[in-house]
Amino acid sequence: MITRTPSYDLSSRNTFRMKVKCALYVEVTAEADLQALDWDSLPQPVFVMGGGSNLLFTKDFPGTVLHVGITSLCPAPTGHLLVTCGAGVVFDDFCAWAASQNLWGPENLSLIPGECGASAVQNIGAYGVEAKDILAGIRAWDMKERRFVDIDPADCEYGYRTSRFKTQWKGRYVITSVTYRLSKEPKPILDYGGVRKALSCHSELVEESLTPQIIRDTIIGIRRKKLPDPEEIGSAGSFFCNPVISREHFEKIVKTAKEDNGADYEVPHYVVGNQIKVPAAWMIEQCGFKGATNGGAQVYQNQPLVIVNATGNATPEEITGLEQKVIDTIAAKYGITLHPEVEHI
Ligand SMILES: Cc1cc2nc3c(=O)[nH]c(=O)nc-3n(C[C@H](O)[C@H](O)[C@H](O)COP(=O)(O)OP(=O)(O)OC[C@H]3O[C@@H](n4cnc5c(N)ncnc54)[C@H](O)[C@@H]3O)c2cc1C
Repeated sequence: MITRTPSYDLSSRNTFRMKVKCALYVEVTAEADLQALDWDSLPQPVFVMGGGSNLLFTKDFPGTVLHVGITSLCPAPTGHLLVTCGAGVVFDDFCAWAASQNLWGPENLSLIPGECGASAVQNIGAYGVEAKDILAGIRAWDMKERRFVDIDPADCEYGYRTSRFKTQWKGRYVITSVTYRLSKEPKPILDYGGVRKALSCHSELVEESLTPQIIRDTIIGIRRKKLPDPEEIGSAGSFFCNPVISREHFEKIVKTAKEDNGADYEVPHYVVGNQIKVPAAWMIEQCGFKGATNGGAQVYQNQPLVIVNATGNATPEEITGLEQKVIDTIAAKYGITLHPEVEHI
């Protein structure tokens, strides 16, 4: 079924709760709808949207916002190890289903907001797992050639929160379904973000007795303490990407941090090949932005990587104003330009 709504209010469709409109909102619920759609009649540009949880609408959108509301979850008949989810399946519903079947793969990605279609665009990641680790296939409508294509994840150039869908293929494909590969073999990944520590109060810590459900529940517990619940407070999750810098640059940052915090101070970091990833949240906190506000926009107290719509009435200008203050201050102090993870529309 194709539903078209002109002058559509997007405020309930983006987790930042920006009060903006698009010229036309189109919802399709089957692949055939994409073939039947009169593409030439749509206000341009066409923007494909999932759950709106990684977007910052900065103004009214002059074109068409298209949403794929295909919500089927289909395990392959042979042993359930391949599962095809419609692009509109809520990603966490898929995680919950996998855990309920005692299948391994997405448990560390539990509670990430958004839909399955976007998981393949964003290469969502958390607690040592990324979507690319479980992606087996992607089906999409090619808006340029107006035909369906099957895309091999190996061709998607997945990296940290990125893929070809965000670069060369930007604006070309409407993902209709995503196939994930799950495993019956236990594969607990516990060494990120305090998962092992949180599990240590669990009576079943013996690794062999862990289940995807136990890990899922643990991760949900950790996330609920740190991240704002999109139902209660508007945000788009991590606002900035964590920068990766040279070792020489990192040494300069260590020097500044020791001057600020004392000689024994250790800067949190991760080694990535020859380079160093520095948590943007750490820099934001060091610059005194934790809890800082700009009108209704606020750097989230519990996790400074997140900017929230604290009052529910923040304007796009207040959010981007706070964003710019953070970027400018960090550039001046550390010589690093932060880049937003959140897509600005
Ligand atoms: C509280 C909170 C916590 C978060 N935590 C995490 C986290 O831990 N890890 C993480 O990686 N992300 C996290 N995010 C970000 C967000 O959840 C992910 O980026 C998610 O994948 C976005 O999904 P969505 O369906 O909302 O996509 P949208 O935000 O609607 O769109 C994201 C991008 O995908 C494209 N897209 C969406 N659907 C389709 C489709 N069917 N076909 C083609 N293109 C499509 C859009 O055009 C856009 O470019 C968090 C967000 C919030 C609000």
